[in-house]
Amino acid sequence: MRFSKKLKNIPPYLFATIDKKMAEMKAKGIDIISLGIGDPDLPTPQNIFKKMHEVLEDPKSGRYPPYEGIYAFRKAVADWYKKRFGVILDADKEVVSLIGSKEGIAHIFPGVIDPGDIVLTTDPGYPVYKMGTLLAGGIPYSVPLKEKEGFLPNLESIPKNILKKAKMLFVNYPNNPTGAVCDISFFKEVVKFAKKHDLLVCSDLAYSEVNYDGYVAPSILQVPGGRDVAIEFHSLSKTYNMTGWRIGMAVGNAEAIKALSTIKTNVDSGIFKAIQYAGIEALTGPQDCIVKNNAIFQKRRDVLVEGLQSLGWPIEKPKATFYVWAKVPKGYTSVSFCEELLVKCGIMIVPGNGYGKFGEGYFRAAITIPEERILEALQRMEDKGIRW
Ligand SMILES: *Cc1c(COP(=O)(O)O)cnc(C)c1O
Repeated sequence: MRFSKKLKNIPPYLFATIDKKMAEMKAKGIDIISLGIGDPDLPTPQNIFKKMHEVLEDPKSGRYPPYEGIYAFRKAVADWYKKRFGVILDADKEVVSLIGSKEGIAHIFPGVIDPGDIVLTTDPGYPVYKMGTLLAGGIPYSVPLKEKEGFLPNLESIPKNILKKAKMLFVNYPNNPTGAVCDISFFKEVVKFAKKHDLLVCSDLAYSEVNYDGYVAPSILQVPGGRDVAIEFHSLSKTYNMTGWRIGMAVGNAEAIKALSTIKTNVDSGIFKAIQYAGIEALTGPQDCIVKNNAIFQKRRDVLVEGLQSLGWPIEKPKATFYVWAKVPKGYTSVSFCEELLVKCGIMIVPGNGYGKFGEGYFRAAITIPEERILEALQRMEDKGIRW
């Protein structure tokens, strides 16, 4: 059997060694505290489950859904955008349902790039931007996110010859893995830059509702002319603790939505209708779960960041996301520090270079476990003399 060159371009799974070590330790009965996975441990709100139960009784719920999503779901998305961002969307032309935003991100590439085209991705970044580019035969170009620049890309630093071949630019604020946020002026700059260089901007807004300290995340579609250049990927996963349900949406530029929909029509057949009705309930029902969840995450964030600070770490509290992004102490690489923490303390974190070469020297810790466990992790670090 012979496989594609594209597949060979997909780098070896960085987390493999850590996963293996973790499995070995678990088998020995060691209690591992995992700050690794960014999957909210809090439950999906009851009203959403209830809605799902109700619509399951309808025998028609088992049939094929419309490719682009049922109209009522797309309308609920448009209404939510209007209420949340003041952005008016055409539910027919500017909204499409996704089987989670990851699916939409992965499928935008074949609709936009040809082999050899460049995709500008921020680094460190969500791995799908780069892997999706490679699988479509494109060439990813890493735009570094630097701490001293607030983990925002310096667009003017991208070389001219790269820009000439570039067709897409990914931005993701609030950002995974750095926890960085932006304000609307950054999105204005991005829109101007994209118009100048004829780029499709892909804005990944997965964390727009996971905000702290009064910060409110903007949408790139709030910028005048934003929808001329941008498609925005969004999801119910992080907002409503629905990661396993697989439902999201892409909104914005009608041509980009059409390109994405054309690919999707040929590779998938939409989302189980009952899940779409549950999604409508999520978007239009009571929203108090967001405030409640954020209060829980904010408390955990405070516990983790203050704990790391007391161990000497020079870090600040992120204003959004479930992630704390911090440097590894002197003398370690990202991987060697993560291994040390796993072996000595039974704590799992993610090495920063897993998110791109500019993530080297950092680690990511997710606050998707109860506060007591975070406190225990900090205690273990102190006991084993792991400090900044
Ligand atoms: C979690 C996540 C997604 C994907 O979420 P879905 O569950 O596929 O909707 C997309 N982008 C970022 C940055 C994420 O962290």
